[in-house]
Amino acid sequence: MERAALLRCSSLASNRFFYFPGRSFSVRLPASAPFSSRYASSLSSASSTSSRLLRRPILGISRRSLHRRHSRLLRVVASSSSPSSSPLHSDKHFSTLSARAVATQPAPQFSSDVGVSDEVAEKLGFEKVSEQFIEECKSKAVLFKHKKTGCEVMSVSNDDENKVFGIVLRTPPKDSTGIPHILEHSVLCGSRKYPLKEPFAELIKGSLNTYLNAITFPDRTCYPIASTNTKDFYNLVDVYLDAVFFPKCVEDELIFQQEGWHYELDDPSKDITYKGVVFNEMKGVYSQPENVLGRAVRRAVFPDNTYGVDSGGDPTVIPKLTFEEFKEFHRKYYHPSNARIWFYGDDDPSERLRILSEYLEMFGSSSSPSESTIEPQRLFSKPVRVVHKYPAGDGGDLKKKHMVCLNWLLSDKTLDLETELALGFLDHLLLGTPASPLMKILLDSGLGDDIVGGGMEDDLLQPQFSIGLKGVSEDDIQKVEDLILTTLKKLSEEGFETEALEASMNTIEFHLRENNTGSFPRGLALMFQSIGKWIYGLDPFGPLKYEKPLMALKARIAKEGSKAVFSPLIEKFILNNHHRAIVEMQPDPEKASRDDSLERETLEKLKASMTEEDLAELTRATQELKLKQETPDPPEVLKTIPCLHLDDIPKRTTPTPIEVGEINGSKVLQHDLFTNDVLYAEVVFDMRSLKQELLPLVPLFCQSLLEMGTKDMSFVQLNQLIGRKTGGISVYPFTSSVRGSTDLCSHIIVRGKAMTGRAEDLFNLVKCVLQEVQFSDQQRFKQFVSQSKAGMESSLSDGGHSIAASRLGAKFTTAGWISEQMGGVSYLEFLQDLEKRVDQDWDGISASLEEIRTSLLSKDGCLVNLTADGKNLTASEKYVSKFLDCLPSSSPAATASWSARLPPGNEAIVIPSQVNYVGKAANLYEAGYQLHGSVYVISNHISNTWLWDRVRLMGGAYGGMSQFNPYSGVYYFVSWRDPNLLNTLDVYDATGDFLRELELDNDTLTKSIIGTIGDVDSYQLPDAKGYNSMLRYLRGFTEEERQQRREEILSTSLKNFREFADVVDAVKHKGVSVAVASAGHIDAAHKDRPSYFQVKKVV
Ligand SMILES: [Zn+2]
Repeated sequence: MERAALLRCSSLASNRFFYFPGRSFSVRLPASAPFSSRYASSLSSASSTSSRLLRRPILGISRRSLHRRHSRLLRVVASSSSPSSSPLHSDKHFSTLSARAVATQPAPQFSSDVGVSDEVAEKLGFEKVSEQFIEECKSKAVLFKHKKTGCEVMSVSNDDENKVFGIVLRTPPKDSTGIPHILEHSVLCGSRKYPLKEPFAELIKGSLNTYLNAITFPDRTCYPIASTNTKDFYNLVDVYLDAVFFPKCVEDELIFQQEGWHYELDDPSKDITYKGVVFNEMKGVYSQPENVLGRAVRRAVFPDNTYGVDSGGDPTVIPKLTFEEFKEFHRKYYHPSNARIWFYGDDDPSERLRILSEYLEMFGSSSSPSESTIEPQRLFSKPVRVVHKYPAGDGGDLKKKHMVCLNWLLSDKTLDLETELALGFLDHLLLGTPASPLMKILLDSGLGDDIVGGGMEDDLLQPQFSIGLKGVSEDDIQKVEDLILTTLKKLSEEGFETEALEASMNTIEFHLRENNTGSFPRGLALMFQSIGKWIYGLDPFGPLKYEKPLMALKARIAKEGSKAVFSPLIEKFILNNHHRAIVEMQPDPEKASRDDSLERETLEKLKASMTEEDLAELTRATQELKLKQETPDPPEVLKTIPCLHLDDIPKRTTPTPIEVGEINGSKVLQHDLFTNDVLYAEVVFDMRSLKQELLPLVPLFCQSLLEMGTKDMSFVQLNQLIGRKTGGISVYPFTSSVRGSTDLCSHIIVRGKAMTGRAEDLFNLVKCVLQEVQFSDQQRFKQFVSQSKAGMESSLSDGGHSIAASRLGAKFTTAGWISEQMGGVSYLEFLQDLEKRVDQDWDGISASLEEIRTSLLSKDGCLVNLTADGKNLTASEKYVSKFLDCLPSSSPAATASWSARLPPGNEAIVIPSQVNYVGKAANLYEAGYQLHGSVYVISNHISNTWLWDRVRLMGGAYGGMSQFNPYSGVYYFVSWRDPNLLNTLDVYDATGDFLRELELDNDTLTKSIIGTIGDVDSYQLPDAKGYNSMLRYLRGFTEEERQQRREEILSTSLKNFREFADVVDAVKHKGVSVAVASAGHIDAAHKDRPSYFQVKKVV
C-alpha cells in the first residue's frame, strides 16, 4: 500500500540474496511533487520516463516476477550492468580496481555493547536464544523467545535512524477464497484499543512514517512499518500490535463484508451485485494477462500443497468464503506462537521488549502450534503441460498473442545458502541484463515480444525457476520450448565467458555492498531476507551474512573455473529435473465478457430464488453497511490514535548542500554528501533542440545507446564493460512544466554510479555510450519496438490510472503532451506504427536516431550533477573536464518551438478488463489559482477522507486519489480497479461541496498537516538527495521557496480548505474526463450520458 494507503501490496517474490524491493537506482521520480515524496510512483511516473526503462531489472532481483501481485509497487528500474560474449578489445584504458566494501551510510560509530541485559529480558518474559554481530550491515542482532507463548523476536540494533518494525504470521491457505488477504485488509479496520473505522487510514494521514503497509504472501502475512521519529515509531508499533492481536473484524461482520465481499442491492427493483475491496482488487489482478499466467504457473508447479491455491483470492471463489471460516482463520493463525517479530534501528532495545511483553503476556501457549507448517511439494516423476485462456483485447493478430513459460521446481527442500547464492549468480548470468545469453537469445529469436517468468525465485519454501516468452505465435510455441532447453544445454556444455562472469560478479557485489534500497527502508529489506528462512524454522541470521558464502563462491570459481561451478547446477536443477511444468496461455477476447455474464447469471439466479422479504432484508443490509461507511468516527474515538504535535515537527527544511559551478563552460552541480566512496553522477542534455516529430523516438533512442554497441564493441561487450567497471548506467528522458511560465524543461539524463576510484572509467563509458554507439542494428531495434509495445499494452490493464493521468496531462500542457508521446496511449500508437516501419524504412529511422544525437550533444546545453563527499568530488573534477572537452562545442540548433496538446474532449480507452480506471482533471493555473502550500494538505485530505470513503469503501474500488502538479497546475483525480465509472466522476465533481461543508477540528487538521510533512520529509539516501536537488534546480525551485511552502503547509487552516472549494470546482466545470475502461462499462455509461466519451480502441 504505497501512496496513501491505497495500494496494499499483496505478494512478493525475489531471490533472497539480491532483494531490492525499492528501486536501487531509481529513475522513476515524480514529475509533479515539489519535494520528493513517497507519492513518487502514483501519477506521474508513467509520463516522466519511458515505460521501457521502468521495466528493466537491475539484478537477478525481484524482477520479471510472475507472482508479484502489484509489480507496480516494486518494479525495479534500469541501470544497465551485464554479462556474456567474446574477448574485449577496447577496455585497456579502464582501470582494474578491485571491488571493495561500500555502503552509503556513514562509517559506523555504533558501539556493539548496546543491548538488553539478560536480567531485563528475563524480567519481561523473554529468553535470549542467540546473539550475533552482523558485519555486513554493522548491526548487533539478538534473537529472543517469549517464554510463555513461544513468540520469536529478532532485535537488530545499529545506527540507522530509519527504524523498522514488522510482525509476520505464517498463514497458508487451503483454498482460493483469499482468507489471508481479506484478513490482512480487515485487521487494519479497528481494534480493541483503537476502535475507529480505519486506524490504518488515520496513520497514513497523520504520521511521519517512512513505510506503512500490509502484505500477503502465498504462505505468510506481513505487517511492516518504519519511521525516523522515535515517538512516531512506537505509536505505529502499538497500533499495529493491537490490530493484529485484537482486531474488531472478528466480531463485526460488516468489516468482513466491506473488505472481503458482500451482495449489494440498493433497491429491490435493481440488480444484485458483488462488492468488496479485495473482491475488486482481485478482479483487477485477474484481468491482467501476466498475473493470470503467474497463477496458472503456481497451480501447475505446486498441485499438491498450499502454493497451488491463491492466497490473494480468486474472484470466482471469494464469494464462497463465510464469516465463520474467516474468524476461525484469525483464531488459529494470529496467535503469538505463530508470529515472528522484527525490530531494527537506533532505538532502545529494552523498550522494544517492554512494548511486546505487554501484548504477549495476554496470551498462553497455542493449542495448535504446528498447524501452519508448510508441507513441501513432492517432485514430479515426469514433466507436465497445461493450457489456459487469458482475457485479451480483440485487436491485432490473436494468433500472435500466445504466452509460453517453462517452470521448474528446483528441489523438494530448502537449499543451503551457498547453493542459493550460486543459483542467484547463475540467474544473473542467464537473465540479468539484455546482454545475458538466455535473455538475448530469446529476444533475438524473434519468436516473441518480451520475456515472461521470474527467473530464480527462492522466497518460498522451495525454489523455482521460470522463463518464457509472450507475444508468441501459436505455431512457434514448441520452438520457444526447444530454444530454452537447447540454450541451457549449450551453456552447461560450454560455460560462461570470463567477461560475463566478471561483470555479473561486480554488479552483484556492488549492489550488495552499496545496499541502496532507494526509498524502501534498509531494515525492511533485511527483514524480508531473514524472514524467508526464519518463517520455515531455519536460521534467521544466515541470510544476512552474505560475505562468507560470497567469498567461498568466488574462491571456488577462481580455483575450479566457472564451468565446474555452474554447469552441474544447470544440469542438476534444470536439465535433469523432471519437475518441469510447461504453461501455455491462449488469448481469449471473449473471456472478460464471458466472466462478466457468468457473474451476472449467478446473481440473477440468486435474485430469482429470493423472496420479497429476502430482497427487502438485503436492501436494508446494504443500507446499513453504507450508513456505517458514511458515518464518521466520533471525535473521542479518533483521539485514541496517538498522534504527534506540530511542535514535534521541525520548522525548517533540511537543505541539501549544493554548489553551482562551471567546468569548461558547462554547469556543474556538486553535492557534498557522505556516500562511502561511491560517486553518483548525472549528465543532463537539453532536449529542446529536437524537432517535435522526433520526440516519440526518444525512449528508443535512450535504449539504443545502452543496447546497440559501438564500432569496436558489440552491445554485449559494452554491457559487460559497464557491469565490470561501474554500478550501472541508465539513460532516460525527463520532462516537466516550469511553474509560472509557458516554458518547460525537457532533458535526457544519463545516470551512472561507480566506486570513486573508477570515476574515470565511469565518464569514459558515458562518453562511449553517448558518442560511439552506432544505430545500425535493425534487428535489435525491432526487438526494442516489440518489447516496448508489449510493455505498454500490459500497462494499460495494470496501470490504467497512470495512462489516464498521462492522457489528461497531455490535454493541458505541452510538457504533459511530450510525456504522453513517450509513455502514454500516443506512444503505444506510435509503436504500433513503428513496428511496420522498421522493415520498410530502417535507413530513415536510423538517420532520425542519429539526428537526435546530433541535436542533443553539445557542451553548451550540458549540465553535470555529482554526489559524493568533498574530497571525492574534487578528485572527480578532472574527469568531468576531460569528458566535457570531448563534447562538440557548437551551440545547439535553435530551440525548437514545441507547442502541442491533445484535443480537449472526454475520452474512454477500451481495455479487456472487468474493472476501470477513471480520471478527471483541470488546469487550476489557467483558472486563476496561485500556488499555496496548503494545496498539498488539502489534496492529501481529499484523497484520504473523501475519496477513500466514497471511491474505495463505498464505491468498492481498490483506490482513488487526487494530486496537484505544482509545475503545470493540473489537478487530477484518478481511481483504480474501479467497478464504477460515471458514479466515480460524480464523486469527483462533488469535491467542492465536500470542502464547503467540511468541519475540521484541530486534531484532524494537525494530522493532515503532519501527514503532508511526512511526505515532504520522506527518508532519502544520499544519491536521492543529490538527484532531487538537481531536479529542483532544473525546474527553478529554490531552497527559499521550499521553506516558504513548508511554512504554508504548517500554517494551513480550515479557511484554506473552504477557499479551495471554489478552486477545485474548476475540475467539475471545466475539467476533462479520461477513463480506461471495459467496453461494457462504457456502453452502460453512454446509456446514461449519450456520447459523453469519445471512444478509443488501442488493443
Ligand atoms: Zn489487497
